[in-house]
Amino acid sequence: MGILVFILFIGLFILLWYLIPSKGEMAELRVHNVLIELPEEYHVIDNVIIGSNNYSSQIDHIVVSPYGIFVIETKGYKGWIYGGENAQYWTQNIFGKKYQLYNPILQNQGHVKALMKILPSIPNDCFIPIVCFNNDASIFVKVQNHIVINRRKLKTTIKRYNTPIISSEDKEWIISTITSHMRVGKEVEKTHVFNARNKARSSYKDINNGICPRCGGQIVKRYGKYGSFYGCRNYPNCKFTMQG
Ligand SMILES: [Zn+2]
Repeated sequence: MGILVFILFIGLFILLWYLIPSKGEMAELRVHNVLIELPEEYHVIDNVIIGSNNYSSQIDHIVVSPYGIFVIETKGYKGWIYGGENAQYWTQNIFGKKYQLYNPILQNQGHVKALMKILPSIPNDCFIPIVCFNNDASIFVKVQNHIVINRRKLKTTIKRYNTPIISSEDKEWIISTITSHMRVGKEVEKTHVFNARNKARSSYKDINNGICPRCGGQIVKRYGKYGSFYGCRNYPNCKFTMQG
């Protein structure tokens, strides 16, 4: 009897593990629900993995419209989010506890580059990267050239772009090209996560060894308006920075 209850319990646990979406998945689902409220001329593609086995990009959402291609990176973080446009890492402060996260602007720039590669005939200014946080995240990120917003501002932000720059033929071509490059399946997803973790680990190792993870240059201590920080010796060619 006892063993039966135990097996049942484990089975239920495994089932729930599969059924209950993770924080990240919940955030993506919520953003998806906002995006599908957009008019029909906005075509939404979710969870796009493109690239090779060794170097793949996982893009949370792509919205293809006459007004541009919106590339959206969704973050399910709560609390206070601090960071700079060019900083390698941002800080999440939740109940006084601090955690580091890889700068999502940089992450999203990688996604845009991967898309540009498969859509070489589309001008660069057609791509509009957006980093979208949960509504309960307080964003204290200094940005000038990038869009970092809460989900509640997503629709109005997208609709602010109202000049048609993509023809309907190009729009269809973009959608079919992205769809044909999409790699699907659990294995593809697993490989992507594995490689992304390896990459994060090796850049962490670089930093610990005083090597810039972006260009291989030397990390040096610098002094700015707001105190000391670490930056790359190859500045201004390389804009890597991190907190001192
Ligand atoms: Zn560098």
